[in-house]
Amino acid sequence: MKIAIIGAGPGGLTLARTLHVLGLESTVYEREPSRDARGQGGMLDLHADTGQLALRAAGLHAGFLALARREGQDLRLLDETGTLLLQQDTPDDAPMDRPEIDRADLRDLLLDSLPAGTVRWGKALADATHFDDGSTLEYDVLVGADGARSRVRPLLTDAQPAPIGVETVELGIPDVDRTHPYLSTVLGRGNYWALGPGQGLSAQRNGSGRVRVYLTFENRDRPALTKEALAEAFADWGPDVPALIRACDDVIVPRTITTLPVGLRWTPHPAVTLIGDAAHLMPPSGEGANQAMLDGAELAQALASDPGYPAAAIRAYEAMMFPRTADAARRSAQIRKMVSAGAHEMLTFFTR
Ligand SMILES: Cc1cc2nc3c(=O)[nH]c(=O)nc-3n(C[C@H](O)[C@H](O)[C@H](O)COP(=O)(O)OP(=O)(O)OC[C@H]3O[C@@H](n4cnc5c(N)ncnc54)[C@H](O)[C@@H]3O)c2cc1C
Repeated sequence: MKIAIIGAGPGGLTLARTLHVLGLESTVYEREPSRDARGQGGMLDLHADTGQLALRAAGLHAGFLALARREGQDLRLLDETGTLLLQQDTPDDAPMDRPEIDRADLRDLLLDSLPAGTVRWGKALADATHFDDGSTLEYDVLVGADGARSRVRPLLTDAQPAPIGVETVELGIPDVDRTHPYLSTVLGRGNYWALGPGQGLSAQRNGSGRVRVYLTFENRDRPALTKEALAEAFADWGPDVPALIRACDDVIVPRTITTLPVGLRWTPHPAVTLIGDAAHLMPPSGEGANQAMLDGAELAQALASDPGYPAAAIRAYEAMMFPRTADAARRSAQIRKMVSAGAHEMLTFFTR
């Protein structure tokens, strides 16, 4: 059985690795030209009942625990005046329920666990049958793990991601302990969230000492993409918030948040399916990568249970995936709503 996976994100790589563990080989086609072509972004918290469960199926849980940062679960929650509403410091013996891992470390863990040649770099799928370089895609089973703008999805559904009225801007403070020691203590070891109605700053310490800073603007025009204009948009907040923005370097990345319809389904296809964001893009709230990885593990298990009959495996996988990810998308939408209401609403959620 020729299994073609489009996309070497967390979902596609977990699928390829779990298939390998279960005795099935696959080919992952990735549009990036090489493994180091692009920075992988910030941290992911992997949950015991989804992302970590997938890593267990992939035989990589011990490797994950060796790389994960327990203290990355720490949280400081502030309102727009700078009042600290909640501080959660993770004890040294706390369970590893949701530890953080650098995306780059997770990707290396998965890539290093695959037989050489499994990932074909520089292969961008152009349409259902061809790559950008003109070569033909051949498969018995095709899995779209190619994220929000999937080229495989149109084989199954006309649904497209739509904006939800949230604009984000990502910035970063390099080597924060050395460059900004005061802000380093303000941020703590994990997550720092300053949330007002319709606007917020969240910051997260990465393993490398870089702090990623995400600004969110809801249902309003995003300020100009300069540090000064962005800091000015928070001028009447507690003083640490504009200071954090001014401490960032000049790499400024805007994003428009889009999602697929909650509970999206399609009529099963005998040879084609989707995993991860390609299937159920949801607002970023700590679920997307976790669900993508569990999709990968569950699809691998279904395919391996009867390798001669992939159509049944795809149906069985989708019957599990649709309700599970619809629940996660609903939760994500609720969390998004609370975040946009501001820190006091989030406090109620956490204390409940
Ligand atoms: C700012 C931000 C923070 C987030 N934080 C979290 C978090 O803390 N926890 C969490 O669980 N989730 C988080 N998410 C969501 C998470 O990033 C995604 O849900 C997750 O990466 C989806 O994994 P995936 O494998 O489905 O797709 P992706 O990670 O998007 O990977 C898709 C891969 O396919 C490749 N590709 C795309 N098109 C093609 C093509 N035509 N041909 C070949 N290859 C192609 C891409 O290059 C990429 O490597 C966050 C998202 C954002 C934007």
